[in-house]
Amino acid sequence: MPKTDGTTEPTQLLELLAEEFSDAAASAVKEAGEPAYRVDQLKGWLYERTPLSFQEMEGLPRSLRTQLEEKFILHPLEYDLDLLSEDGTRKFLWKQERDDSRIESVLIPDGDRVTYCISTQAGCPVKCTFCATGYGGFAGNLSAAEIIDQVVQIRNRTAQAPTNLVFMGMGEPLLNFDGLCRALSIMTDPRQLGIGARRITVSTVGIPDRIRELSRSFPQVKLALSLHATNRQLRDKLVPLNIKYPLEDVLEAVREHYRQTGRRVTFEYVILPGINDSSEDARDLANKIRDIHSTINLIGFNPFEGAPYRKPVLKSMLAFRDELRRLLPGEVTLRRSRGEDIQGACGQLSLKNQGSK
Ligand code: SAH
Ligand code: SF4
Repeated sequence: MPKTDGTTEPTQLLELLAEEFSDAAASAVKEAGEPAYRVDQLKGWLYERTPLSFQEMEGLPRSLRTQLEEKFILHPLEYDLDLLSEDGTRKFLWKQERDDSRIESVLIPDGDRVTYCISTQAGCPVKCTFCATGYGGFAGNLSAAEIIDQVVQIRNRTAQAPTNLVFMGMGEPLLNFDGLCRALSIMTDPRQLGIGARRITVSTVGIPDRIRELSRSFPQVKLALSLHATNRQLRDKLVPLNIKYPLEDVLEAVREHYRQTGRRVTFEYVILPGINDSSEDARDLANKIRDIHSTINLIGFNPFEGAPYRKPVLKSMLAFRDELRRLLPGEVTLRRSRGEDIQGACGQLSLKNQGSK
């Protein structure tokens, strides 16, 4: 990108769409006086193996590697540390280039599945009352390159390629809509990362027009809607964005999502003992979503320091689940919490207490 002093800033290679990549790579290769087939070699390295530096791209002449290094940024995120849980879940912490905030991602192995849980923002501005990310502050949107870099660095560092991607790390994906959509394009393009859109889930508290746009642009991407309460007053309190985008409007967009894509939505519901887990809550929930093709994913509240809620006991969670199963035709599951011992479980990612110690 040209700067005012006539010099150019390095381009973020990972956030180029397929054509942009071809143009940028072709002109870099030409400038270096190299033959055109080097573009395909670079492409192979970038999207299939993504080494940690250009210098590791064997087969490319050293002079070209050095020129690429001057022109392009390969990894915008700096690795900070990673933590391995007893259950195999692994949490990664990254530093952003431009400031000091930390970003987190989680790898969750489960049988044949390897799920990467990816962040879209540094912290989260929504500030749900049960979520450590919300309490940790908000330092800004991630660029598409930073979103994609979490995937390619985890893949490179673990050699466990993802079978599934979930946008359930830090941040509200639909509040970083441009970054999200660009990242989804590059991740799903068969000429680039080529990850099947059906294996990607975007989780949101719900912004109606952006849900509609997501349905149009990425009809195969799975939608998860964080519900948590159906009563307006309670949802306003738990999920403050509900004040601006009330649930009724969000659910209308979710119905349209099904009509547009034919894909069921997953409703996520964090169980907060004594707050949203009574029989009446189950009945209200069932009435609200009865007409929507959906599955419900219950998540026991994962506690964190200073949280104003208790951890639910298994028996009461099962009772809530069973009640919903009686009331609704769709699937109701209770999600097993993973990686709690490394603060890697849902809602435990936080900007606080982190960084190399
Ligand atoms: N901002 C998006 C995606 C990130 S949060 C969203 O809210 O949907 C991913 C999931 O973790 C959401 O369903 C959220 O409700 C859940 N979550 C947040 N805090 C939690 C906690 N303390 N315990 C259990 N789940 C939590
Ligand atoms: Fe943000 Fe999601 Fe946490 Fe709410 S639950 S504060 S929207 S990350």
